[in-house]
Amino acid sequence: MQANTRQIILKSRPDGPVKGENFDTREVAVPDPEDGDVLVRVIYMSLDPYMRGRMDAAKSYAANFKVGKPMIARSVGEVVVSRNNAYHAGDLVVGMMDWSDYAVVPGAKGLRTADPEFAPLPYYLGALGMPGMTAWIGMKEIGKPKEGETLFVSAASGAVGQIAGQMGRMAGCRVVGCAGSDEKVAYLTGEIGFDAAFNHRTEGDYLGALKRCCPTGIDVNFENVGGAMLEAVIEHANDYARSIQCGAISQYNLVEDERYGIKNLEHIHRKRIQMEGFIVTDHWKRLDEFIAEMGSWLKCGAMAYKIDITEGLENAPAAFMAMLEGGNFGKQVVKVGAEPGAETTGQQTR
Ligand code: NDP
Repeated sequence: MQANTRQIILKSRPDGPVKGENFDTREVAVPDPEDGDVLVRVIYMSLDPYMRGRMDAAKSYAANFKVGKPMIARSVGEVVVSRNNAYHAGDLVVGMMDWSDYAVVPGAKGLRTADPEFAPLPYYLGALGMPGMTAWIGMKEIGKPKEGETLFVSAASGAVGQIAGQMGRMAGCRVVGCAGSDEKVAYLTGEIGFDAAFNHRTEGDYLGALKRCCPTGIDVNFENVGGAMLEAVIEHANDYARSIQCGAISQYNLVEDERYGIKNLEHIHRKRIQMEGFIVTDHWKRLDEFIAEMGSWLKCGAMAYKIDITEGLENAPAAFMAMLEGGNFGKQVVKVGAEPGAETTGQQTR
């Protein structure tokens, strides 16, 4: 058992884009688990856009990170010490943990086991985890796509978007996406069955691109980006369209007066658009149902999933900042330590 662990802490709250100076790394003694707790060696750590909101002081649906305390992420790891009867040393678990090599999970709260025979461990942070369930809930509860309809997905090659698009394909929709590079666009149309896609960084005219790719309008919108893209979608939406308000990543790194003001909200009533926001954790009671269905899709090859792995805890801040600007290609995960039985790589606990 190692004596020390690195932790990445929130040093200061960002004002606008996140910067390297907002993070600090410290080395502390590996904490002792108390009765009911487990100590976990972190193997994979998820980086997600919602963490940007948690870095701010403003109140939101998830508690703010505390300045001077470790950042927190959903992670997969191996139990090394258990003071909880439900878990034993060697168990592989998924749950919320500090950005660190070793983390105590108080009361083992929220932990679930991960089975590497069922799916590769990073999938528990992606297709079989929170982002996969986000796409699944949004499509089932709000989008309700029907055969022959057109589904548009923004940030379509990302952790959530690639699942939403493939669910639309399975439902018999024409599926269209936007992504931030030609390589991502080629993945959408060449590998995961999108009917059309465009590069939002090179297409200045979003409405023109939507008209070209969605010639009969948009019936279901899976909204990940917000801002000018959402305005163009509203403009091109059909009567009775459903807009799944999942996120607005184009706005997260902006200070308040830089945020985009959408100018055509009158279409919401004129076109009878149903626009509904949701937060995945409100639906957590359906996790087992989701894992069973998503697991079967992954096993039979109906669903593909791309993961982007950054090596090393020390690279997590840079990977996080890059992900917020499109630097990831697929679900962004950091490999903090070696998988059990593998050569020890990445983990630098001293
Ligand atoms: P992704 O894996 O899609 O990564 C973020 C992507 O956002 C980047 O790769 C980039 O892709 C895109 N992006 C960044 N800036 C812009 C911009 N200015 N314009 C257009 N695209 C941009 O992240 P997730 O799949 O994890 O999250 C997608 C969305 O879902 C986010 O808005 C997130 O907040 C939301 N979400 C909501 C949840 C809920 O419960 N409601 C739960 C989980 C996620 P590209 O290179 O293609 O531009």
